[in-house]
Amino acid sequence: MLDFITHDLSEHVSELIDTAMEREATLLPPRAYLGASSLGEDCARRLQFQYFNAPKDPGRHFPGRVLRVFARGHRVEAWMVDWLRLAGFDLRDRNDQGEQFGFAAAGGRVRGHADGIIVAGPGNFRYPMLWECKCVGVKTFRELKKKRLAASRPVYAAQVALYQAYLGLHEHPALFTAVCADDMSIYTERVLFDRGLAQRASDRAVHILRACDVGELLPRISTTPTHQTCRYCPWQERCWSLPSPTTD
Ligand code: SF4
Repeated sequence: MLDFITHDLSEHVSELIDTAMEREATLLPPRAYLGASSLGEDCARRLQFQYFNAPKDPGRHFPGRVLRVFARGHRVEAWMVDWLRLAGFDLRDRNDQGEQFGFAAAGGRVRGHADGIIVAGPGNFRYPMLWECKCVGVKTFRELKKKRLAASRPVYAAQVALYQAYLGLHEHPALFTAVCADDMSIYTERVLFDRGLAQRASDRAVHILRACDVGELLPRISTTPTHQTCRYCPWQERCWSLPSPTTD
């Protein structure tokens, strides 16, 4: 029974939910492939740790609050499916088997799952076109509006290019949408297929997998663990406790 007088109720209930969510997250099966959604990330070594499902540093698992942010993103993307359909777009987010549209390359060691394909609809669009959606914070939303996708979020841009290439949806521009989690504004951009970007991301995947196969640890992204990317890396301790490859 809660002590309603002395206990901080918000803290207590949050703790209960956090604990349950964090426990649930540990039960998810590990991912045994390189995901197209992360291939544009700047540190190849980090992608190796991810590929090998290396244990994260103590205390570096996603806390419940962050897991709720992810959950919100999934819900918002599902709402966008409804809203685009309401607006008259024929948006398919599942294939005939009821699965997400996706691809597998390199013997299944590189995979991606697209948000959807729009095959018809109103306005001046060319179909079929890939649809990719993100729920973003206000800072990212403003940057997208100011600099557009490729310049502001290269990881998302690489993901879109890979899906267009591997799903054979490169003839027409993709539709990228972002929903601002702060006020639910919608950003929309037509994304022309960037063949070079898709090729570079794909080559990078091959390079990382080859290194993984021969047990080669790829160079770090920086010379110091205080680098911005390293500070938020769940393998920071592991990475910097290992001897540096000669190429560092
Ligand atoms: S700590 Fe830095 S260099 Fe090491 S894997 Fe993470 S991001 Fe890459």
